[in-house]
Amino acid sequence: MHTAELQATPIAPHEQAAEAVATLTSVTKSYGPVQALDGLNLTLRKGEIVALLGPNGAGKSTAVRLLLGLCAPTTGEARIFGRDPREALARERIGAMLQVAALPRTLKVKEHIDLFRSYYPAPLPAAEVVRIAQLEGIENRLFEALSGGQQQRLLFGLALCGNPDLVFLDEPTVGMDIEARRGLWIQIRALAAQGKTVLLTTHYLEEADALAHRIVVVNKGRVVSEGTPAEIKSRGAGRLIRCRTALRPELLRTLSTVTSAEVADGLTTVMAASPETALREMFALDRELHSLEVVSPGLEDAFLAITGS
Ligand code: ADP
Ligand code: MG
Repeated sequence: MHTAELQATPIAPHEQAAEAVATLTSVTKSYGPVQALDGLNLTLRKGEIVALLGPNGAGKSTAVRLLLGLCAPTTGEARIFGRDPREALARERIGAMLQVAALPRTLKVKEHIDLFRSYYPAPLPAAEVVRIAQLEGIENRLFEALSGGQQQRLLFGLALCGNPDLVFLDEPTVGMDIEARRGLWIQIRALAAQGKTVLLTTHYLEEADALAHRIVVVNKGRVVSEGTPAEIKSRGAGRLIRCRTALRPELLRTLSTVTSAEVADGLTTVMAASPETALREMFALDRELHSLEVVSPGLEDAFLAITGS
């Protein structure tokens, strides 16, 4: 597959000002002493694929649960289609693929699809769900007889049964091989191309990079960075220097333009806004420095630099 096909179609300028279909405004959410969200702001617009990225416990699932109307904010406001997410009229327009879907194991694929379609006033035709979720040929198979990847595809199909305008996908491709993941990416892009809005949580940075128009990085219940994948990567603060050196990370962090320094397995990694400046100082301090490599940070490096984890 050509790499260009793996990139999300850029949102046209007129769509950037498209209507907000979901918002979280200054939302806090506490579970007893635990503050899961701490003043989170999030806006999802029509036709957009947004990836919510963050380390474990960052508050991603809590944000999704608030938008699904499964819980209420402690303070602040959650809105979908201008309504409280707990209202039936708002919920009819959303579909969700959740991480922990406990489906009856002894129902067939097509029975699950018909059951989910029955919950909605204007469902997609069952054959359409089967096609989009790539379930052709296994409609009569029991849920328990499906492979992990097939179960994921069924969960994806069930999220679309109501022909939703807003789709929540929590780790949608977990357990899938790369070919199945790419197949699902194509379907997810097709949803956005039809004007549907997709909120995706994933811990595959490659997935966020390939799919999302916009990435929202969350840490400790707050948005710490937000932008296109390219913008997020460029915020990884300059260039990544890899080398072997006797210089300690504590010292390297004090050099000009250096934002972080780590050593693992004898290999030192330094993030520097200006690699030339940093390297001049490094060579002055260690003439034996060798195995040098200077690269643009990938999304993963940027993510680590942003969340400091
Ligand atoms: P993420 O999905 O980013 O891993 P979560 O939204 O699940 O993060 O959790 C955010 C924080 O809130 C974590 O510290 C988690 O332990 C806590 N938390 C989430 N749900 C509950 C709950 N039902 N009861 C108590 N604490 C919770
Ligand atoms: Mg989660």
